[in-house]
Amino acid sequence: MSLKTRLADLIAAQGPIGVAQFMTIALHEPEGGYYATRDPFGAKGDFITAPEISQMFGEILGLWLAQAWDDQGRPHHPLLVELGPGRGTLMADMLRTLKAAPDFLKQATVVMVEASPHLRAVQQKALKSHPGIVWQSQFDPPPARPIFLIANEFFDALPIRQYVKTLRGWCERMVTVKDGALAFALAPTPAPGALIPQAYAAAPEGGVYETAPSAIALAEDMARLIAAQGGAALLVDYGYDAIGFAGTLQAVGGHAFADILAEAGAHDLSAHVDFTALAAAGKRGGAGVYGPIGQGALLTALGMATRAQGLAAKNPASAQELAAALERLTAPDKMGTLFKALAFLPPAAVNAPGFETVGAAH
Ligand code: SAH
Repeated sequence: MSLKTRLADLIAAQGPIGVAQFMTIALHEPEGGYYATRDPFGAKGDFITAPEISQMFGEILGLWLAQAWDDQGRPHHPLLVELGPGRGTLMADMLRTLKAAPDFLKQATVVMVEASPHLRAVQQKALKSHPGIVWQSQFDPPPARPIFLIANEFFDALPIRQYVKTLRGWCERMVTVKDGALAFALAPTPAPGALIPQAYAAAPEGGVYETAPSAIALAEDMARLIAAQGGAALLVDYGYDAIGFAGTLQAVGGHAFADILAEAGAHDLSAHVDFTALAAAGKRGGAGVYGPIGQGALLTALGMATRAQGLAAKNPASAQELAAALERLTAPDKMGTLFKALAFLPPAAVNAPGFETVGAAH
């Protein structure tokens, strides 16, 4: 049975479902779910991510974690955690670079948080030369250890709820079946007013408020653990830090936008990350919160241009490719500004590497 038929049966049985439930089923259903069944990355796939563009991305972020560990007095038995590791490329690049920080590496336990059985197998293959890696299907770190965590393009895949401003109030956007096809509809009864942040009062009719409850809960959990046990988290994703009233849920297939509902499970679904909400969750959890700053600003502050020159000097034939990757990852009109980085550190930390220009908000 196709995922679309299963969704239609579910909706016929229980009524329209929220966008969050739709996203969860379309992305993760074991039979036919987008991530559950495929490797979407790369030129031949649906989209390309920073670690797949260049090894420099993982190298620099690996050193960021080692620096944060060093800044905190090298706490014993750190966890090196990645959320949503895709093909395992970022972790492989980090582990190679972290050979330069052997004291960190030899004490660290690597934890890969991956929901997709298919991608977990891809990651196991990519990392087969590294014994002792732990895989989890959700973030559940072994207790009482400092947590050094990276998440690239993970939070954008977490399910969002959408509310649309109407004359009768803010109504949740639902997915229903109309004329035999999946279709968006609004819940007949408005959501309780307390659910909608005050800042959205200025939205026009038709304006959309999006919220990602599981992303916010996870960010708060991470911040609480880091504040209590030490560590650092670096979240990199595309998203916004200023309020907007347009919905951002999108479907992408073959490097182009696709219809969100037409072929459930066949396309990637994601939404822009609300960095203001994640930063607020980090503060509620008690962490020192840094950023968001543009990915370009962070990578530049951490010396990516110098790294590109160094690699080009060793291998002149790749100079052009390295310059193109650097440009793609850092230029404001490429990934440098739309993609942002947010860091959580323990509240007593002095600063986050690369975030020196912005400082902490506690
Ligand atoms: N970080 C990788 C991949 C990003 S795509 C890169 O930059 O290339 C999103 C990743 O998160 C995929 O590995 C996907 O399977 C995983 N993922 C999505 N939702 C998840 C969830 N709820 N729990 C765990 N993993 C999830």
